[in-house]
Amino acid sequence: MRPETETDAQELYECFECGARAESGGTCECGGELRHLGRSRDL
Ligand SMILES: [Zn+2]
Repeated sequence: MRPETETDAQELYECFECGARAESGGTCECGGELRHLGRSRDL
């Protein structure tokens, strides 16, 4: 489904509301929207 060729790296999402991070998009447990950050960095 994904057009990207680099699928080995883990994707990361961050909540706009509380800053929580998740490995899958959608809605945060706080109710905020998870924003796609792209591949995980050294953070
Ligand atoms: Zn949240």
